Amino acid sequence: MTTPSPRPGILDIAPYVGGVHAAPGAGRVMVLSSNEGALGPSQKAMAACRKAAGTMHRYPDGAAQDLRNAIGNRFGCETSRIVCGAGSDELIALLVRAYAGPGDEVLYSRHGFLMYPLAAMGAGATPVTAPEVDLTADVDSLLGQVTAHTRMLFLANPNNPTGTYIPADALARLREGLREDVLMVVDSAYAEFVSRNDYDAGIGLVEAHDNVVMLRTFSKIFGLAALRLGWAYGPPEVIDVLNRLRGPFNVNAAAQAAGIAALEDTAHTEACRKHNEIWLPWLTGELEGLGLAVPRSIANFALARFADKAAADSAYAHLMSRGVIARRMGAYGLPESLRITVGQEDEMRATVSALAEHLGAS
Ligand SMILES: *Cc1c(COP(=O)(O)O)cnc(C)c1O
Repeated sequence: MTTPSPRPGILDIAPYVGGVHAAPGAGRVMVLSSNEGALGPSQKAMAACRKAAGTMHRYPDGAAQDLRNAIGNRFGCETSRIVCGAGSDELIALLVRAYAGPGDEVLYSRHGFLMYPLAAMGAGATPVTAPEVDLTADVDSLLGQVTAHTRMLFLANPNNPTGTYIPADALARLREGLREDVLMVVDSAYAEFVSRNDYDAGIGLVEAHDNVVMLRTFSKIFGLAALRLGWAYGPPEVIDVLNRLRGPFNVNAAAQAAGIAALEDTAHTEACRKHNEIWLPWLTGELEGLGLAVPRSIANFALARFADKAAADSAYAHLMSRGVIARRMGAYGLPESLRITVGQEDEMRATVSALAEHLGAS
């Protein structure tokens, strides 16, 4: 008897496991596992979402015109070169489906975002990694892995889960070193948290070249992860391809309304950025004070590196018993590490005291 079977390679994909959101037995639960904004969504975004509920029998605007206009105004981008998606995850998958398939290689850095290899495998393409230097993407190493089969390169900048980044000049050099037919996808999911003058989210690169796409999300600083909203900024040809491939109503009406309101609430975004500017260095310093190595993150999370997997696992379990949910990193090839999102002040203090207690340093 034969049964329907998926295309080759699909069953090799290990399903993505999202961050845990429950700590059984613990009193208060502190979710620091998914890099969601510490201060939650904007009140204005919540109000817009509630208002949108009244017309949920209507299809959303398939072009997301008002939202794209708002994004264009806020970030100084050309509206016609923006496509919105149900999270940037959807756009990652669509890009791979459009530009890579069996026999093609999709390149990313060793500890890059997990969706890149998952999307590549989903399209039947081959994920290829380039070694990092000090848990940071390395331009020469990436360029060294380019072959005749390379069709795309994904770079999260700053990267999740390491938090590290490459500066603007290195990003430009990476593009210069690529063949013009290789699509370079710069995933700037954490750009709004960054305030460094050597950082480039990629808008200028997109506008200057035919082979660069930038991805952004509303799931992190804007606090709309549940609504699934992201956007791509790219050359007209790539935008056209995404518009042909995406579902006609891929971004729901509540997400569109909340996204516009979130962009308007610049005071809230600024409060989130300032909060991170205080608590990321604090968390990093405290973790280092406990003897843990922490790569220099410029995003809204820190990677705490333990001696080995057993040490990370027992710290994870202890944090969990205190209601603090961190993220285990085995799927990223970093089993000795835990990723901890910058949360609210009391969550940060609770995390550090639980770790201090566990490590016998208090
Ligand atoms: C969180 C994250 C995303 C995904 O965001 P969604 O818009 O929620 O799909 C994309 N890239 C990186 C690097 C991320 O950390």
